[in-house]
Amino acid sequence: MMEQFKNNDYEIVDFNEFADIYIVNSCSVTNLATRKTRNMLSKTKKINNQCITVLVGCYAEEIKNDKTIEAKFDIILGNEEKKDILKYIDMKKSEINDISIVSKYIQNNVLEKGINIRQSIKIEDGCDNFCSYCIIPYVRGRVRSRDINDIVKEAEILVKNNVLELVIVGIEIASYGKDLDYTVSLIDVIEKVSKVKGLLRVRLRIN
Ligand code: SF4
Repeated sequence: MMEQFKNNDYEIVDFNEFADIYIVNSCSVTNLATRKTRNMLSKTKKINNQCITVLVGCYAEEIKNDKTIEAKFDIILGNEEKKDILKYIDMKKSEINDISIVSKYIQNNVLEKGINIRQSIKIEDGCDNFCSYCIIPYVRGRVRSRDINDIVKEAEILVKNNVLELVIVGIEIASYGKDLDYTVSLIDVIEKVSKVKGLLRVRLRIN
């Protein structure tokens, strides 16, 4: 999302500073995470009561259809709508489509410049496991794996821009590849990414 704003000449400032638009990219895995989200949202109007406050991500998915909570925010967007966030801000429109029917990985903009020498690279979204205590499958949808060639291409761009360490991330990376129409797994991703010339280290992280 940050890339979308940067590429359209927005100035990015710290969340605690005065701004015209505040984006809260929310998590809802624990009660603490949802409380933090609510606190961040209530803070924005105190800093600038004319601001546009945009709630995106998992908490937005969780509270959709709850009109009393929705009314507190200017714009609410689900996880799949993040890629078009500027369009929704321009229209001042909220949108949360049913994530459970999204079947393809949505490619975000590839970072043209590495920010740090360590950078994360997302390979899949969603989970099919439905563990009894976990909300993730309901707010992130089913497993959607990213094409392996896109992953390697992003890895090459990042390394070209001085990234030395890549962290492979996803919601349930062990399921990587199960939804694709060719045979590929997490091991293939690790092998291919680790062969990118100039890369020193590959790590794995489960979100
Ligand atoms: S595997 Fe992990 S993300 Fe998936 S439902 Fe279980 S705890 Fe949640």
